[in-house]
Amino acid sequence: MKIAIGVCEKINGRCSSMGCFKAYNKKDKHFSRYEDIDTELQAFFSCNICSSESKENITTLATRLKDADVKIIHLGACAVKCKADKLLEIKEVFTSMDMEVVEGTH
Ligand code: SF4
Repeated sequence: MKIAIGVCEKINGRCSSMGCFKAYNKKDKHFSRYEDIDTELQAFFSCNICSSESKENITTLATRLKDADVKIIHLGACAVKCKADKLLEIKEVFTSMDMEVVEGTH
């Protein structure tokens, strides 16, 4: 099962992302659903919808993930708690391409 993690670009330079990787590596927290499933973390990307004032970049990115057979997108808490109120837009980009979106990593 190929998965990807998406975070908010506003955390650049402030968050190490170790929490996401620790939970993924231990199949803990929101990754516990994969306890008996082989997974491959295919990508770690950031959203920039609000700073670019466009969904174009994330849509291009989502298309690449879809082409790489990524099935599930985990959004970090920073994206789930999107301060620009774009969570539904972010999710729709991926769900419209038949990828599942899970709200949370750790
Ligand atoms: S739209 Fe939300 S999640 Fe995306 S960069 Fe802006 S604040 Fe972060």
